[in-house]
Amino acid sequence: MSARNRKVKVWVRTRPTANFAHDMIDLPPDGKAVNVHCRRDARHGVVNNQILDWSFKLDGVLHNASQDAVYNKVASNIITKAMDGYNGTIMCYGQTGAGKTFTMTGATENYQHRGVIPRAVAQVFKEIGDRSETAVSIRISYLEIYNETIIDLLATLPETIAAAQLSPMTVVEDENGCYVKGLSCHLAQTEEDALNLLFEGETNRAISAHTLNKVSSRSHAIFTVYIESRSRVLSDAKYTVSKLNFVDLAGSERLSKTQSEGKTKEEAMYINKSLSFLEQTVIALADRRREHIPFRQTKLTHCLKDSIGGRCNTLLIANIWGEASQIEETISTLRFAIRMMCVSSEPTLNEHYDPVVMVKKLELEIEALKRELAM
Ligand code: ADP
Ligand code: MG
Repeated sequence: MSARNRKVKVWVRTRPTANFAHDMIDLPPDGKAVNVHCRRDARHGVVNNQILDWSFKLDGVLHNASQDAVYNKVASNIITKAMDGYNGTIMCYGQTGAGKTFTMTGATENYQHRGVIPRAVAQVFKEIGDRSETAVSIRISYLEIYNETIIDLLATLPETIAAAQLSPMTVVEDENGCYVKGLSCHLAQTEEDALNLLFEGETNRAISAHTLNKVSSRSHAIFTVYIESRSRVLSDAKYTVSKLNFVDLAGSERLSKTQSEGKTKEEAMYINKSLSFLEQTVIALADRRREHIPFRQTKLTHCLKDSIGGRCNTLLIANIWGEASQIEETISTLRFAIRMMCVSSEPTLNEHYDPVVMVKKLELEIEALKRELAM
């Protein structure tokens, strides 16, 4: 495997716009880079204002790409790997309005515009149908992190929102990874069950936004599919357990730009805190300083501890909005994307052995040996 194959995959997706700043953003024909040429006056507020030309090399650029093309090019193989027992994470990062939710969930009213999650769900159930030799069970959870509070999007609202604020859910770890204590997890027997859960979560996200008087772009959302596969051969004790995380991050725009006050300022502070810890976590992971990685500093990084790089197939989609007025945020998003490119990822198979089946198998073997001796 080449060194690049053992890293997190990072693709850029551009949001379509009639005002794409072709004079500032150049997309070379190989589809693997974004070059940004900045006019000095457009660079107000960017940290290092000496650099006017940037060249960002990535795994690929999705420009004018349909939802279908995005899915087949970058997401589909992660779903297949998850069905084989490897964890997978797909995250969207970028400023509000850049197309994260469109990429992840898509537009429900238009079938062609459905995003990565509904397509992944369809692929999961198609592959279950194709793998007749294995029995697969699918469970789903859906959470939102708003101002460091975890909200279960598949529990009854609004009681859950009140409960989440009174006694916040926490992230716990065991040898199998990280999970949120008390988060509801729902069996999905068909694609339709899974899509209904997605829809229910989306609706609850809107209700919680209304109840807490917030905009959904200020929260992070994580939709998780848990996959357990067992052989239909009863004596086979081996089974795999994997999870697929779909992460729609809060808008990454800087506080100074939003010029916010009061409640909005508080939200922006929480977002800045969690995204900047996500960034620090990514920098530390790239440095391979695993023991000093600040995972526990925020709910977001703690939830994602077992899901960024490491044992997991990870894909980051950096969504950019290529208009001249958005150039600072575009540079900031691409800089984050470049850091993510350095994070190692060596996916490992989550294989387990069922002790009950193993004991049963040994008992059968002993019986057979006894019969042989008696003959
Ligand atoms: P974000 O979640 O990053 O804040 P959205 O996904 O809500 O951004 O996108 C903002 C708007 O742009 C929405 O109206 C969305 O439908 C539209 N949009 C974003 N990306 C695309 C795309 N690739 N094709 C068509 N419309 C898009
Ligand atoms: Mg959004």
